[in-house]
Amino acid sequence: MSSPFVIVGGGLAGATAAEELRTRGHDGPIELIAAEEFRPYQRPPLSKEYLTGSGGLDDVFAHPDGWEAEHDVTLRTGVAALRIGDHVVALSDGSEVPFAKLLIATGAQPRPLDLPGGDAREVRTFRTLDDADALRGALQGGDRRVVLLGSGWIGMELAAAARGYGNDVTVVARGRVPLAAAIGDELGLMYRRAHEEHGVVFRMDQDVAAIEVGDDGAATGVRLGDEVVPADLVLVGHGVEPDTTLAVTAGLDLDHGILVDERLQTSSPDIVAAGDVANAFHPVLRQRLRSEHWANAIAGGKVAASTMLGGDAVLDAIPYLYSDQYDVGMEYSGYPPLADGAELVIRGDLATRELVAFWVRDDRVVAGMNVNVWDVNEQVQRLIRDRVVVDRARLADPSVDLASLT
Ligand code: FAD
Repeated sequence: MSSPFVIVGGGLAGATAAEELRTRGHDGPIELIAAEEFRPYQRPPLSKEYLTGSGGLDDVFAHPDGWEAEHDVTLRTGVAALRIGDHVVALSDGSEVPFAKLLIATGAQPRPLDLPGGDAREVRTFRTLDDADALRGALQGGDRRVVLLGSGWIGMELAAAARGYGNDVTVVARGRVPLAAAIGDELGLMYRRAHEEHGVVFRMDQDVAAIEVGDDGAATGVRLGDEVVPADLVLVGHGVEPDTTLAVTAGLDLDHGILVDERLQTSSPDIVAAGDVANAFHPVLRQRLRSEHWANAIAGGKVAASTMLGGDAVLDAIPYLYSDQYDVGMEYSGYPPLADGAELVIRGDLATRELVAFWVRDDRVVAGMNVNVWDVNEQVQRLIRDRVVVDRARLADPSVDLASLT
């Protein structure tokens, strides 16, 4: 029997690749190795519906129960290591899995808090289903003083969920404006106002000196210079690092992630990489881009499967992400490296949080974000993809049909 196609990583990129291999007619064995005890799952609901309790596990798992068995995908649990020369993945229980083709989809890991007291009890990062179960349990009583370090997308979603249960929430971050690194000051302030209306307190422009720790080993506060912000729970939202542990031992080419071309091929012929761990050459941008988003895991999983089968699909999707906080839902499509410093054009109203924001560079839309305005993402993507020359006044005018601009 031929060696299996092996996928390491039970996240969305790995799950999507398994499905795509079957969709494309691959009928050989597929083995999917996951470090966590669960069948493959996706993370976005963890900080949203699953954490708030409005959604259950069905929204979390990548496939319905039994899908893997029905599609002859063997699930294994364990941390994989790689012996590249032998074409073998070695598991932590001592077993070995040979591979004909290998997908590395090991995702990313939260940056730990490298500060005095950073390893105290009740200082938590957030990435996994176990993290979500534990945090839900901690927040449910609604009587915790939660301090959130960092003001990125996931941190702000956690702040919203924590407030939803009635906990006190303080966001402490280095920048002046939450989310500014992703969407700029104007839109970041719109989010800040939404959080403040729900009672979140912001302490921006702050450097955390240490975590104060009580006699029982649990965090009691966050030290900012001479002042301590009291806390029973400190959530660390300082971003993630690509999990390249496996790739390092294999000697693959790395640079802030596993270096891959537009077909997600690594520096080793039978190995591809996809999802958060892959730093891929983007054929439209003509530069490398490592995306940490749901849509990239799906698109990358599909391209990885194509390449494993000798196909020529390339990862040229426009990066896309979404976020839900309170009643503010948004979708963002675009190229962050081009949006940085581009002119912002707003169609709609920041005060009511119903708008489409466009980032315009050289008279062309390079990114767009719809907030509580739906069914426009396709038009936004078309403006970007087709490099349509736009008139700013018409772009900003909600009475002008977006489709007429494309
Ligand atoms: P992962 O989902 O990280 O999966 C990788 C898996 O590989 C992990 O389970 C890991 O344990 C396993 N692994 C690592 N090393 C080994 C090894 N040696 N052996 C075996 N297994 C291994 N994106 C959006 O666009 N919108 C959102 O709203 C959004 N919300 C998010 C909310 C949260 C809480 C988080 C954490 C992320 C969110 N994201 C969101 C980002 C999105 O979920 C990620 O981009 C996506 O999960 C990446 O998928 P992946 O398969 O590459 O990696």
